[in-house]
Amino acid sequence: MRLECIAIGTELLTTTRVDTNSVWLAQRLASLGLGFHRKTVVGDGREDMAALFREALERSDFVVCTGGLGPTFDDLTKEIWAEVLGEALIEDPEIWQIIQDRFAALKRPLPDTNRKQALVPARARALRNPMGTAPGILWENANGQAGKWIVLLPGVPREMKYLWEAEIEPLLKPMAGAPMHTLRMMVGSSGESAVDARTTPLRTKHGHLDWTILAGLGAVELIARSTKPEELEAARMDFEAELGADLALLGQGSLEERVLDLLRERGEMLAVAESMTGGTVQSRLTGVPGSSDAFKGGAVVYSASAKAILADVDPALVQVHGTVSEPVTRALAEGIARKLGTAWGLAITGNAGPTEDKAGKAPIGASFMAVWGPKGLASQTLSFPGSRVDIQARTATWALDFLRRQIQACR
Ligand code: ATP
Ligand code: MG
Repeated sequence: MRLECIAIGTELLTTTRVDTNSVWLAQRLASLGLGFHRKTVVGDGREDMAALFREALERSDFVVCTGGLGPTFDDLTKEIWAEVLGEALIEDPEIWQIIQDRFAALKRPLPDTNRKQALVPARARALRNPMGTAPGILWENANGQAGKWIVLLPGVPREMKYLWEAEIEPLLKPMAGAPMHTLRMMVGSSGESAVDARTTPLRTKHGHLDWTILAGLGAVELIARSTKPEELEAARMDFEAELGADLALLGQGSLEERVLDLLRERGEMLAVAESMTGGTVQSRLTGVPGSSDAFKGGAVVYSASAKAILADVDPALVQVHGTVSEPVTRALAEGIARKLGTAWGLAITGNAGPTEDKAGKAPIGASFMAVWGPKGLASQTLSFPGSRVDIQARTATWALDFLRRQIQACR
């Protein structure tokens, strides 16, 4: 069965909104062992929509559209589909009553334009939408063709999701394939091409799996999919042996969640002092619900005096080595941990550019990270390419991974 998704809305073509509906739908389909062979974003223009709808009707067995079912002038999805299929729009009295009741219950005046939401194409069926006013629309044998489906859902994600789960998934289940299982592995402190090269032999060995490699700023994800869990399990064992300590995490979750879990296992707390990353690491840690049981707190120590005041860094050390240096970063990691009374301290300094630092000691892209822990201090000096934002993001991820390695090595 060939499934296609069309996201409708001019705002999805600009910088204001991203089409997330199709991503969610693809996820739901994957759980049924199904997937799109095509997806498109189209603006509200009549001609564009009509042309695309005709093509989709031709090439796909199942077309799901989201957006453009509202009451306003730019909501044309239903009208244009009716045109393409040569069907009249007929008012559904029951839906019209529901819309009237809804506005009455909210004590709001009912604009005339809302009446068009009660219109249903002659051979389609309306899908009740208790989350909003626009009903969904479904053709089960569209264009008189058996097994041809067209589904129109509202653009509002909450409404779209409700209608998909309540109305469409039950119809799709009998057509579902075997459910897909996923193996996700994150490799820390590595670039995409390095991970690609290193894992080629194993990916070839497990070549019957469907592989994806995803590069982030500072970590790489390897994802394998299969309908057979035992095949994924065999791959997992091989990759664990190959990657060793470079395997940052297995399964769902983020690097920061992994770090927090490792700290919780040990019953220990973390403090963080960040200069160049300006709090990025701490923001990522606090983004995890319940992180306060492993992350105690920290500081953004951007200036030399902040480093002295907030993490007790000796000004003489800064004089000798400069604020952006490995010795100062080591002092920061220990200092912040002592200040907050934690077992672990993480510190980051560096130069994210775009200009050389005043002392000229740290070139653009230089970053220093240090970890204070039960076994003492560990530190590393790295150099990253990219824009200021890229360098900050990469450094934050590498620092979290560096910390993860130190905690794991403590076992
Ligand atoms: P409404 O009755 O609210 O007008 P609608 O079916 O006409 O519903 P739209 O007007 O296209 O839907 O979109 C409503 C809201 O949903 C907007 O905030 C829009 O940005 C958001 N939205 C629409 N399509 C998508 C999409 N594909 N992904 C994520 N959000 C979307
Ligand atoms: Mg709308």
